[in-house]
Amino acid sequence: VTRFEARSNPWQAHFETPPLPSDALEIRFNEPMARHTTLRLGGPADVWLMPRTRDAARSLLAWLSDANIPTTFVGGGTNLLVRDGGIRGAVVNLGHLQAIAPQDPENPGLIHVEAGAHTSKLLQVSIERELCGLEFLAGVPGSVGGGLRMNAGTYLGEFTNVVTQVRSLSSKGEWIARDHAACGFVYRNSALPSDELVIDATLHLQPGRAEEIRARAAELKARKRDREPKAVGNNGSTFKNPPGDFAGRIIEAAGLKGVSLGGAQVSPVHANWLVVANSQICTSADLLGLIEIVREKVQAHSGIELELEVRIIGEA
Ligand SMILES: Cc1cc2nc3c(=O)[nH]c(=O)nc-3n(C[C@H](O)[C@H](O)[C@H](O)COP(=O)(O)OP(=O)(O)OC[C@H]3O[C@@H](n4cnc5c(N)ncnc54)[C@H](O)[C@@H]3O)c2cc1C
Repeated sequence: VTRFEARSNPWQAHFETPPLPSDALEIRFNEPMARHTTLRLGGPADVWLMPRTRDAARSLLAWLSDANIPTTFVGGGTNLLVRDGGIRGAVVNLGHLQAIAPQDPENPGLIHVEAGAHTSKLLQVSIERELCGLEFLAGVPGSVGGGLRMNAGTYLGEFTNVVTQVRSLSSKGEWIARDHAACGFVYRNSALPSDELVIDATLHLQPGRAEEIRARAAELKARKRDREPKAVGNNGSTFKNPPGDFAGRIIEAAGLKGVSLGGAQVSPVHANWLVVANSQICTSADLLGLIEIVREKVQAHSGIELELEVRIIGEA
């Protein structure tokens, strides 16, 4: 259990008159980010905001911009390390925007998906519709918005293989549409700007047989399950794989498997997973300290500079 000192929340006063009615916007104050991250760590967000419609999201961003409220976007929190001091200002989450539907009756391979949809649900719908191309998502948690930003993927593929268009809102609440090339997808990243809120995307899938798609997804899921640490707070892989190598192999070769700091540990099961081994005492500061130890020791051992896959946000 991480305890935080009570602190005043200067942003709460801005919401005394809410920007939108409660049927358009869910608002929570001092929301613990530990509830919204798979690490189950992180201090409070001053204001947690969940628009219930696309139009509410647009009005909300315009209002936040006019009010000069710093704004952060969070999806499923599966790739986030939120510092112990939490997040100042507003955090916007699209958990209420989860629609998945055919984009065009003439072309059944085109699927429209909202950013708050879970990747697991998207995969399930694609199997039900006998559309292949999303098997790579088996065992990759999180939301579609986060997956697009991160170009999430596995050895079976990545978002870049299926996206035809991404629509987002600028920080001022203006609609922006990008075709595939303009999204700038690269290994575990994209050129989708950090101050834009991804709202939805069009994906292009191919016809396939449900049993075959399901079998490929199940094989990937089983393979991931066999190699992954269980029952510990985690973000999956902490570092990106350097070209032609594996971060886990490099960290293990530096003798770091099982090394711990406070409640955080380099998993004894998979060295590229820096996990919460003791949730009673672990803080984000432990994880951050362990990340630095791993980077320094790896640099000293092999000269390789490991790059983070996990996104670090919030205040110390
Ligand atoms: C057990 C486990 C296994 C994993 N395995 C894999 C794997 O095999 N392959 C892989 O690629 N990843 C893997 N991951 C990491 C994670 O699943 C992906 O990075 C995922 O795509 C993150 O999505 P999210 O919604 O949780 O994003 P978050 O963690 O909430 O956010 C990630 C980034 O996206 C931004 N973001 C989120 N939503 C939006 C939005 N709507 N608009 C704009 N920006 C947004 C955030 O600001 C942040 O910068 C794993 C994680 C776990 C916990």
